[in-house]
Amino acid sequence: MRKAIGVDIGGGSIRASLFDETGKEQKTEISPTPIHLDNESFLKILKDTIRPLAKEGIGIGVGSPGPLDNERGVLIASANMQGLKNLPITESLRKEFSLPVWYENDANCAALGEAYFGDYKNTESQLILTLGTGVGGGFVNRGILYSGYLGNGIEIGHTTSVIGGALCGCGVQGCVESYFSTKGFFGRYLEKSGKSLANAEEFFQLVRKEDPIAKEILHFGTLALAHAVRNAVHLLNPEAVVFVGGITKSYDLFGKLLETEIRSSIFPVLNERLKIGAGGSLSGALGAASLVFSKEKV
Ligand SMILES: [Zn+2]
Repeated sequence: MRKAIGVDIGGGSIRASLFDETGKEQKTEISPTPIHLDNESFLKILKDTIRPLAKEGIGIGVGSPGPLDNERGVLIASANMQGLKNLPITESLRKEFSLPVWYENDANCAALGEAYFGDYKNTESQLILTLGTGVGGGFVNRGILYSGYLGNGIEIGHTTSVIGGALCGCGVQGCVESYFSTKGFFGRYLEKSGKSLANAEEFFQLVRKEDPIAKEILHFGTLALAHAVRNAVHLLNPEAVVFVGGITKSYDLFGKLLETEIRSSIFPVLNERLKIGAGGSLSGALGAASLVFSKEKV
């Protein structure tokens, strides 16, 4: 059976795993990455992490947060590792291991992993939204990821849900991410209560305790997200909309309203086939490995 190496470059560590075609993890290597690293020292850690797996893989898939250029295979900059600049990931790994290498942003990798190995893998096309610190997205049609040039497609977090709404980190008002994401919940809660929250758990605990401000923020945020999804469903006509990421742990608090609002606002005919739900918590490394299986198929 063919095996692929998936590499997840996250904040604080690199995880490389070998997967077979059923998505089963065979071996894993994890290396911590200090915050202060230059390109050369980072690439050394990256190669050392992959090396024990390299002989068995048919290719290497790499995922990381952006901004990146997937055509050149370059990580342009990293918010977590500020010493990195224009890091030539694809070229360095290709030279080192003589294997095909693909590199995409982590939301796209998560989408591909979900589409290949998740609960909705038997649908024709999947729109996958990662609900976490921000809102990421990916679209997979018949096993092929649509990522746009340079790999910046399906940035659904930065589509507008509320005209003239709250200011987003991207500099524009009213992005859905400002209303439904950890960052968004914190920002709206601070505005309305003057209090800062430490993590998403704390926000959802407030909702469970019937805190009226937190409940209102979640309610409005859910509607904002539903309409961003509506827009995307009308653009892409996916057969499944799948929510993944840390916030889906609290799906019981918003999932029903979210699904009802989406279903009642899209063209009724779409509801016959459209599936909506929370996906599994597949690893970022599996998503990255899916790049190899996907590209090898083309
Ligand atoms: Zn934005």
